[in-house]
Amino acid sequence: MLFRTIPKTGDSLSILGFGCMRLPTLKNGDIDEERATGLLRHAIDRGVNYVDTAWYYHGEQSEPFLGRALGGGYREKVKIATKLPSWDIEKRKDMDIFLESQLNKLNTDRIDYYLIHGIDGEMWQKLKKLNVIDFIEKAKSGGFINNVGFSFHGNGKDFPLIVDDYNWEFCLIQYNFLDEKNQAGTAGLRYAADKKLGVIVMEPLRGGKLAGPVPADVKQIWEEAEVKRTPAEWALRWVWNHPEVTAVLSGMTDEKQLEENLAIAGTARPDSLTEAELQLIKKAARRYRKQLKVDCTGCRYCMPCPSGVNIPFCFEEYDNLYMTNNRAEQKFLYASRLGGIFTAGDPEFASLCTECGECIEKCPQHVDIPTVLKSVVAELEGPDLEKRLAKARKIFSRQK
Ligand code: SF4
Ligand code: SF4
Repeated sequence: MLFRTIPKTGDSLSILGFGCMRLPTLKNGDIDEERATGLLRHAIDRGVNYVDTAWYYHGEQSEPFLGRALGGGYREKVKIATKLPSWDIEKRKDMDIFLESQLNKLNTDRIDYYLIHGIDGEMWQKLKKLNVIDFIEKAKSGGFINNVGFSFHGNGKDFPLIVDDYNWEFCLIQYNFLDEKNQAGTAGLRYAADKKLGVIVMEPLRGGKLAGPVPADVKQIWEEAEVKRTPAEWALRWVWNHPEVTAVLSGMTDEKQLEENLAIAGTARPDSLTEAELQLIKKAARRYRKQLKVDCTGCRYCMPCPSGVNIPFCFEEYDNLYMTNNRAEQKFLYASRLGGIFTAGDPEFASLCTECGECIEKCPQHVDIPTVLKSVVAELEGPDLEKRLAKARKIFSRQK
């Protein structure tokens, strides 16, 4: 494992952080606690020392999971990062109540790295009016929080303003080879690093899209490289190639993914990609941009939808339709996956959307969700949906 230091705190963090937003789950959607604990502890045994969670992850179950999983001496081996649930703050007192509850859930007396969750310019102003700075200062002087930062999904112009508005120790930004000019972007990364903030990166694989399924023409591009790497490795190495990046969070859902990430994190030094490799990544980025239809990262902040639409799954299948160039198969997969066949639950189709608008402001990527869902309906539903569903039921019930 390689390590990089946060200038303001002197903490040496593993360049691979363990993200607790996409833990392995059981069929009913609950965290698969045994497997997730095994993954987390294995990662820590191999050198990971930064673990990131949040109030909202896994339907508020990620923090209590982490509290339990870090038993047996593992708590002392890591820095815990969690976040103030900004969207649910109505008054100053709420902040204290959430923090106290988080300390209990995480089974700890202090949070090493505490973030104000998902702020943009507007949210930051709202929280400032509610005295968030007083909250931060008191939580720090009381010893409940060691370091303070913010996670950001706003537009690039707001980012430096927020960086300069408080004496933050670190920040968390979305960054990958498709987001150089999106949100904080490369300019924001450099700005924060210049101000001596640690910069933690989330969504290095853009919600898994850069790892697979890889469109045929992108696959071809990767095959041109002299050193052969998986698509996930190209994406991760690109982020770590930036010396301004302190650590990268990766949600590690299975053992294979964890092993791959650990192996890369042992050798991904800053400025280690060659000029030819950087050009190849630029070429792949251009191809991806042509094919991606929705800016969805699968973060699930928009969920649950009161009408039962599984918004991120609808968008994933919609993107896959363009990435894989196999319309018939994708339409079948949409029917099977959103039809509730695997979960034995209710259908979660895009056509259930009533355009109530509740999800729109929750989306950090500013996706116009109801409008895009209409395109999903037009391209992936249609009169033969029932037929596809019936076929999927037959196939998958036979497999049980
Ligand atoms: S606008 Fe549609 S998708 Fe969004 S919450 Fe309302 S019903 Fe659900
Ligand atoms: S639509 Fe937006 S909020 Fe919902 S999963 Fe995608 S990126 Fe996240």
